[in-house]
Amino acid sequence: MRKFWHKWPLALVMYTDENLRPPVVGADGTIWRTAGTARGAVVRIHPDYEADTGILHHELNHVCSFWELMAAGAAVGLGFTGVCLLVFGGGFYLAFVWIAALAAVLLMRKMKAYKVRCEAMAYAAQLKHHQRNGLPSELASLAARLASPVYDFGLTQVEAERLILKYV
Ligand SMILES: [Zn+2]
Repeated sequence: MRKFWHKWPLALVMYTDENLRPPVVGADGTIWRTAGTARGAVVRIHPDYEADTGILHHELNHVCSFWELMAAGAAVGLGFTGVCLLVFGGGFYLAFVWIAALAAVLLMRKMKAYKVRCEAMAYAAQLKHHQRNGLPSELASLAARLASPVYDFGLTQVEAERLILKYV
């Protein structure tokens, strides 16, 4: 298995078929295979897609979103820690501040609107990569995937295209 550390955003990238979601079959019988996944800063890409750098850009965009959210959570935690130190002089409140910051981050990651936004941004990154490298535009197929049962966001193809283009 080939793997490497990507520096910016920091991510461990592995080309493996382990821990990838099984294919999803749509209502029309279309089989949607999972090419890659990002869990936190760990990216897994199916070895069949090793040459597809667009997939890599897609997953690395998810890693960017992950680090941004972590940084936002830490900033909120640190900010309230400062307030607690000033107002209460520290104490056990600080534990609650960090538990609340962690809960907010976890809640955010579960929210549908946040997931839709992250996915649209990742597809936009993939599309921009195609455009930069003179590869054929795949907007229609990327939007079809975003609108597919892989995500179950309830988007139409047109809505998915519009969403992706918002972030290009
Ligand atoms: Zn994605």
